[in-house]
This record gives sequence, structure tokens and C-alpha cells, in this order.
Amino acid sequence: MRDVIIAANWKMHTSPSDAGDLARTIAARTRHDGVTRVICPPYVSLAAVRDALAESDPDVGVGAQNVHHELQGAYTGEVSAPMLVGLADWVIVGHSERRRDFAESDELIGRKLARAVEAGLRPILCVGEQLAEREAGQQTDVVRRQLTGALAGHDPAALASAGLVIAYEPVWAIGTGRNASGQDASTMADAIRTVVGESWPAGADDLPVLYGGSVTSANIAEFLTEPAIDGALVGGASLKPDEMAGIVARAGLTAAARGAAA
Ligand code: PEP
Repeated sequence: MRDVIIAANWKMHTSPSDAGDLARTIAARTRHDGVTRVICPPYVSLAAVRDALAESDPDVGVGAQNVHHELQGAYTGEVSAPMLVGLADWVIVGHSERRRDFAESDELIGRKLARAVEAGLRPILCVGEQLAEREAGQQTDVVRRQLTGALAGHDPAALASAGLVIAYEPVWAIGTGRNASGQDASTMADAIRTVVGESWPAGADDLPVLYGGSVTSANIAEFLTEPAIDGALVGGASLKPDEMAGIVARAGLTAAARGAAA
């Protein structure tokens, strides 16, 4: 039985002075058995969120939104995986906003993934197609290319023990208010497990796959009723405690149903 995971991507929102309070509020309103919760604030707010959660709800994980592909060096403004140890236990790699704004390639994302795994951070690897690619029916090919590129050369056993999570995030659904359908997301989750299973036959069934893209408390059920979807990576709505309360409450129902079926 795979875990149900709700990860909050706060993007470039919150500062150290307000992030702790927001994390505390969200944590208090999202306690549901069986749901793994993660909050990914900006780097500068990691310590504030870590400290707030350590005292109020240590069950909530803390994640970074990015990591550098080298361990140290002349990379002004960057943060490496060893620097995150003690601040975060999770890290997002390959988010489409970084692919778009910082030209991150699949090969580079693979190196970030390697640094994350070596540092003991739990990675959430994001994949997803652009609108034109979906309209051309290329979504499976795109996601295949992203996965094989990022996972090339990785030891499946190391990825398994790091607890690799894949987030399927169609780019046209991120921050647009236009979500994918649950059925389309489920089809893509199956495709992701097929691709991963080609190099990692034993692990694909256990691989958590999240959906991300304009998830709200109003549409989360559409995704969580799909057995192939194990949760969500939530952007805009994750800054709103009411929204997070609704999303995680629905995730709690799925976790309870999976527990009862196991
Ligand atoms: C995201 O940032 O990963 C995301 C899915 O954003 P939003 O929920 O705002 O579409």
C-alpha cells in the first residue's frame, strides 16, 4: 500500500517572519492519520518552518524547492544538498518553473537528484508536458524522455531507499486554474510507472506518483479517487490554510480507504 502524500510548494512566497506562523496554522488544521504532509517554503524560510513544526507538529516534513547539482564551489546564490541537511528532509527537483526559467535539462535534473539522494533528502521529481505537446498527443513521449533523462545512471535501489516520489505536473495546469482530469492524470501515472518499471521492475508498483496543477479543495477528490494517484503537489492553494485543510481532509479519506483495503 502506497502512502498518501500532500506536498505544499510555497514557491517564492513567505519570508522568515511569516512562514513559521503559516506552517503552524496549516499543520494544526491538517492532522489526518495516514497522510504524509510536506511543506516546501523558500530557502530563506526553511529554518523558520523547521523550528515552527518541530515544536508544533514534527510529523510534517520540510522540503526545499530546489538544490544545486554540485556539492560546493563558485556558484553564487546557489544552495547544495549538504547545506540543506538539518533544514529539510525533502527536496523538489525538476519543477517546470525551473525548467522554464533556468533552462534546467533532464541531465542536470538527474545530477540534482543524485545529490539529493546522496544527502539523504527525499526527492520529488517533477515531470509534465507543455500544452502544445498535449495537443499533439505527445504527453507520454515527453514524460518518458524526462524520466529516462533524469533517472539515467541512477541505482534503482538507492532511489527506492531514498523514497523517490514522482509528481506528474502538466505545465498547462500549473498556476492556471485549469486542472487535468483525474482520468488523464491516472493515465499518466500509469505511463510513469511503466517507464520507471523498465529499468526498475521491482520498484514501480511501490513508486508514489502525485498529481500537481491547480489542485484545490474543490477538485482534489477527482485525483484521489484514482488508485494510481497517491496525492498532490499543491502550489497556489497551499498558501491558504482553508484550502490545505480541505485537501488534506480528503487525502485522509483515501488513506483510510487504502488502509482498510490492505
Ligand atoms: C506547483 O507549483 O507545483 C503547482 C502545481 O502549482 P499550482 O497548484 O498553483 O498549479
